[in-house]
Amino acid sequence: MMENTSYIELSRKAVQNNFDYLREIIGDRVTISHVVKGNAYGHGINTYVPLAVELGAKHFSTFDAHEAHQVYNAVNGDATLMVMGMIDNEELEWAIEHQIEFFIFDIDRLKKAISAARKMKTQARVHIELETGMNRTGFEKDQMAEVIKIIKANAEVLFIKGICTHYAGAESYANFFRVKDQFQRFKKGVKRLEKNDIQAEALHAACSAAAVRFPKSRLDMVRIGIMQYGFWPSTETYIEKVKPTQILGEDPLQRVISWKSRVMNIKHVKQGEYVGYGTSYLATSDIKVATVPVGYGHGFSRSLSNTGRALVREVRVPVIGTVNMNMMLLDVSQVDNTEKGDEVVLIGNQGEMSISVSSFSDYSDQLNYELLTRLPHDIPRYIVE
Ligand SMILES: *Cc1c(COP(=O)(O)O)cnc(C)c1O
Repeated sequence: MMENTSYIELSRKAVQNNFDYLREIIGDRVTISHVVKGNAYGHGINTYVPLAVELGAKHFSTFDAHEAHQVYNAVNGDATLMVMGMIDNEELEWAIEHQIEFFIFDIDRLKKAISAARKMKTQARVHIELETGMNRTGFEKDQMAEVIKIIKANAEVLFIKGICTHYAGAESYANFFRVKDQFQRFKKGVKRLEKNDIQAEALHAACSAAAVRFPKSRLDMVRIGIMQYGFWPSTETYIEKVKPTQILGEDPLQRVISWKSRVMNIKHVKQGEYVGYGTSYLATSDIKVATVPVGYGHGFSRSLSNTGRALVREVRVPVIGTVNMNMMLLDVSQVDNTEKGDEVVLIGNQGEMSISVSSFSDYSDQLNYELLTRLPHDIPRYIVE
């Protein structure tokens, strides 16, 4: 049955729960753009996007045009698409032709978008990105005079869908003043455009953390990535939002993803023997070792060597020895009747037990974001209830 050595399940119920919770805190008036860059944070664009559409998502954001192609095919015309980052000149024409919206943050792209729209006798749907303090992309203050001049001279081929910016770390209080300053600068930039009769359909700036923590920053649209998948942008955000209203430990978000494999082989190892490559793991008693066909080549970080955890027959078991390219070893001495073919949960639930991505990333020093997006594209993904 299994062609791949592991597989991913997405829970429909969890997605529905997260959409409902986001609506509850964000309200009905604000558009939610579902950020699906990084292959939908590892959940898989081809599986996740149709599910999100089915559950009511109407707006998606990607990083680049390649992802936008995938989303375009997955939504079947039922949603708005926005490219926040890279799009080259050939792709600009494709985007304009298919009414795909995109960020504009440099004069060259602005001019290219205008000439492409003229050539195709249609409008380019653009979001003007303002630099407010992240210093990554966005028009600088001293570029605005030129931007305004160009936009006004080409108003008939530009549909200004948005004016936007991005915060430099809204998930941490350490960045509070920087983010607040960004918001002020953004409002000033918007005012300047409006004074020059450049009105946008929507103003947007907030990612998950800002949308939850700073209600004022929600404006007309929020760009929600990590939270739709059931993860908090940071522990800080979680504690701040959840503690006053909920019983601690009861997370209003639900994890969408599970990552599973099966026991490939079982071996009995005598006390005093080393297990795996080198001498990093010494059996201090007679133990039972299960081999699982997932390694760092599949996205299971090598830094989980001797520290990771997995579930087998509803028992939490440790990864022992170094994680190999295609395999890892588990000490299953405490699991009764383990046998070849048993389900192994790397992320997700088994009975009452669970392994969360965040505990996992604590061990490996990886953020949720990084671990998720490293999950290979070719692991099969299925939707479960
Ligand atoms: C990734 C990204 C987001 C979403 O961030 P989350 O923290 O996952 O909600 C929003 N806006 C931009 C520009 C992004 O790159």
